Amino acid sequence: MKAMVLNRLCNLKEERQPLALQDMPQPRPAANEILVKVSVCGVCHTELDEIEGRTPPPQLPVILGHQVVGRVVVNGKQTQRYRVGDRIGVAWIHSACRQCTFCRAGLENLCDEFRATGRDAQGGYAQYMTVPEGFAYEIPAVFSDAQAAPLLCAGAIGYRSLRLTGLQNGQKLGLTGFGASAHLVLKMVKHRFPDCGIYVFARSAKEREFARELGAAWAGDTGDEPPQKLHCIIDTTPAWKPVVEALKMLTPGGRLVINAIRKEEFDKDDLLKLDYPQHLWMEKEIKSVANVARRDVAEFLDLAARIPFIPEVQQFALEEANIALLELKERKIRGAKVLMID
Ligand SMILES: [Zn+2]
Ligand SMILES: [Zn+2]
Repeated sequence: MKAMVLNRLCNLKEERQPLALQDMPQPRPAANEILVKVSVCGVCHTELDEIEGRTPPPQLPVILGHQVVGRVVVNGKQTQRYRVGDRIGVAWIHSACRQCTFCRAGLENLCDEFRATGRDAQGGYAQYMTVPEGFAYEIPAVFSDAQAAPLLCAGAIGYRSLRLTGLQNGQKLGLTGFGASAHLVLKMVKHRFPDCGIYVFARSAKEREFARELGAAWAGDTGDEPPQKLHCIIDTTPAWKPVVEALKMLTPGGRLVINAIRKEEFDKDDLLKLDYPQHLWMEKEIKSVANVARRDVAEFLDLAARIPFIPEVQQFALEEANIALLELKERKIRGAKVLMID
């Protein structure tokens, strides 16, 4: 089968062809797995982190890609969930042990044996891939294959971060940073919690204007005071200053949810401004978001179909994966990038 393969980690400033088109053996499904003929695979920022070694694959070569839509072509011996020809999706969570206390509580994202698609297991930049049947999702009919693929990552993680805030209708939610994942959260909140006010903190005036257009009650710069304190805030920035500022904006008992894989070092000194009475006293909480659980993906797909939330996509051929990745790196973004695979 054709696949775009990562053979060694590299710096994308120097290496413009990080992936190589190669002929790879078609994988065979284990007893609990299905073999999927991939139709579309979304291109995600996390692939850049894998290629450049910020979240390195444990073994090379590896096939990247964790927003996969395809059809079941072979059922493993012990599978029963899908029929050949069924359309399914695969997300960042490829498998977990299913037996530990985390897994049994629906927190398989925290499992010791959590394996990520396209990093710890072969992903969807290829004609075929395998996945345990319990880690595949039905795709709602309103979405084309290309529209469904981008929903399987940023949307599901945004959904998890919203779930972790514990937001209730009528409360006030803050968003620090207003990139792709924050837009999605804003749209979800408008649909699920119509009486919630959304307060956006963004450095760029353009982003603030965009937030207001999408229905934010207020938009200001990092550190600006909103008219009221907020019950919960989701931080999607790579920096520390927004964390400190956000804690100040919370109501008593308020919660800050940090949705970022890593924080950068450049403004870490801002943490020294943390003032206990102002930022933490009165039972304020901080929680991070790690990966996604299956429930997040399934519930988000269902919600996205009901809104309906149809993403704009920009299509590339599988062989053009390097172009799509470099455009993402250079922030040339016109809709979510997807690889069309035949
Ligand atoms: Zn487990
Ligand atoms: Zn992703």
